[in-house]
Amino acid sequence: MIKITKWRPDTCGCEIDYQWDDAQNEDVRVHTIFEMIKVCPAHSGETDKVVHYAKVLDENQRKNIVLKEILEKVPSAVRDKIQEDGSIVKDIKLGKEYKWSFDADRNLVIDLIGFTPTEKLAVKTITDNLFPNKVKIL
Ligand SMILES: [Zn+2]
Repeated sequence: MIKITKWRPDTCGCEIDYQWDDAQNEDVRVHTIFEMIKVCPAHSGETDKVVHYAKVLDENQRKNIVLKEILEKVPSAVRDKIQEDGSIVKDIKLGKEYKWSFDADRNLVIDLIGFTPTEKLAVKTITDNLFPNKVKIL
């Protein structure tokens, strides 16, 4: 069945209704832009809703993928965190922080608070490989 879900990304102020089919397996499920409900100042110039959705999605995924990569590939900055239900997830070590924002050109700007120079370099290698010229590390 075709469903419509409202998405408010945490990376900008846009509000997007996207469409998906619950008959499709989650791994291959395609989200299709249905309607732009709200357009944030950073994306106000977009006239094509498909392009607009792709940009918002790209920015949101870039932010999430970089965090996921840090959790997987920079073990010295990562701890095991026990959740309320007892399950264990990876999280940034206490005293360190992955802070992010976007600049006027919609580059992902990362502030790696408490990270050692070695850890910062490891993150830079990751972002240079995955998102060349789209991520800045402070
Ligand atoms: Zn936006």
